Amino acid sequence: MSEQSYDVVVIGSGPAGYVAAIKAAQLGLSVACVEQWQDEKGKAVVGGTCLNVGCIPSKALLDSSHKFAEARDDFAVHGIGVDKPSMDVPAMLARKDKIVKQLTGGVSSLFKHNGVTTIVGRGKVLAGAKVEVTDADGNVSVVDAGNVIIAAGSLPIEIPPAPVDNEYIVDSTGALEFSEIPEKLGVIGAGVIGLELGSVWSRLGSEVVLLEALDSFLPMMDHQIAKETGKIFKKQGLDIRLGARVTAAEVKDKQVHVTYSTSDGEQHLTFDRLIVCVGRRPRSEELLASDSGVTLDERGFIYVNDFCATEAPHVYAVGDVVRGPMLAHKGSEEGVMVAERIAGKPAQLNYDCIPSVVYTHPEVAAVGKTEQELKADGVPYKAGVFPFAASGRALAANDSDGMVKILAHEETDRILGCHIVGPSAADLVQQVVIAMEFGSSAEDLALMVFGHPTLSEAVHEAALAVDGHAIHIA
Ligand code: FAD
Repeated sequence: MSEQSYDVVVIGSGPAGYVAAIKAAQLGLSVACVEQWQDEKGKAVVGGTCLNVGCIPSKALLDSSHKFAEARDDFAVHGIGVDKPSMDVPAMLARKDKIVKQLTGGVSSLFKHNGVTTIVGRGKVLAGAKVEVTDADGNVSVVDAGNVIIAAGSLPIEIPPAPVDNEYIVDSTGALEFSEIPEKLGVIGAGVIGLELGSVWSRLGSEVVLLEALDSFLPMMDHQIAKETGKIFKKQGLDIRLGARVTAAEVKDKQVHVTYSTSDGEQHLTFDRLIVCVGRRPRSEELLASDSGVTLDERGFIYVNDFCATEAPHVYAVGDVVRGPMLAHKGSEEGVMVAERIAGKPAQLNYDCIPSVVYTHPEVAAVGKTEQELKADGVPYKAGVFPFAASGRALAANDSDGMVKILAHEETDRILGCHIVGPSAADLVQQVVIAMEFGSSAEDLALMVFGHPTLSEAVHEAALAVDGHAIHIA
């Protein structure tokens, strides 16, 4: 056993861990990042789920498939004639892989540039803020850390009725690698990841059925926006079946035979491929020595306070492995906060202002409270809604499905939430995130000058609509 020593040892190099490591190094601390994922040459694969099998590759495929669908379905309306477009799936996958390589290579370079040491191996937190590292050959060493930041992330949840075989039944990672377009594709789970991956293959021509056990569609979203989103997806041909609980999936003759139950009884469907997207669980097993002092909550998340400190002194945890939305930007900002607190700065994170996005087309994006949450909390509120059908820019782009909805406090006018389904919703909602961080009222947004013609004008009009003063709707 050898012993090395750093001010900070980060376990995991996903967006929570690598950002924490870089920030800590920028603040003058000596930093090592332990990563278990390695390539065939034994080199660390950095970037975690997000860069390798999550946010980035899924967006690469979403963008490729969107361009294909536009060429096939939308160019004609602009007067553009194209012969029937074709899709070279291996070329699409190769482009995705190139982007992943570029970005993970970028993280490695940033580690070098900032003097972060990468240690390849599996990290385990020992008592007294020490980290045990086991390499691929089973060699064990102990790293002495002034502070430990656990950023071990999450894994897809598996369900017994549909065991992943990585050929016919896959999880989200496998769904990024189909070498050809499945004619019939089943997706278990109509949540964010299921909708994004279902959209990719649907745009390319798959007949997609999403089986969702819950009775409501996107229940965490504002109900009005979720309803509108459901209508738009239906128009696009996504077959979303709610209240459909999968009870069995069996591969026979190169097809997946799925049994599911609804209020009407047992149903059967056959697919060429099945994606299981029922959520993710924290990767907290085999991570903590029994005397580490770090505790888990009842769902297996590492227990932390508002500042991401665990119950063990000098041990922090950030990202998907702790409570809160499983989003890359949430993890990254937690990483920054923890690095700054270790360096003695009074950093904190505003958990009320974290945007969430579904990167379908159109996108669905939200920040803050939903209308149903405000009702349940008894908060007096007013709502302003503006449809993209009344936006000159959206019409010019032939992309006018959806709406912007802003919720503000009835008495103070302070913005409490914004919910958007529509073109560039992810970027538009960010404007309201900024406004909310500055404690803006809906009137503040209404009084600002927005460029014309822009999609942002829909945000302006929704803010005006909060007091019934939108210009471009009756
Ligand atoms: P991870 O990214 O999971 O990284 C954890 C790292 O820790 C991994 O590299 C793992 O190998 C390593 N590790 C684990 N245990 C150990 C150990 N004991 N020792 C050493 N190393 C260890 N989020 C968004 O915000 N936007 C999106 O558009 C988006 N799209 C997504 C699409 C898909 C298909 C998926 C699956 C996820 C998506 N997410 C998205 C979620 C996002 O990927 C996660 O929220 C994010 O990656 C979490 O970051 P993290 O650093 O906490 O963990």
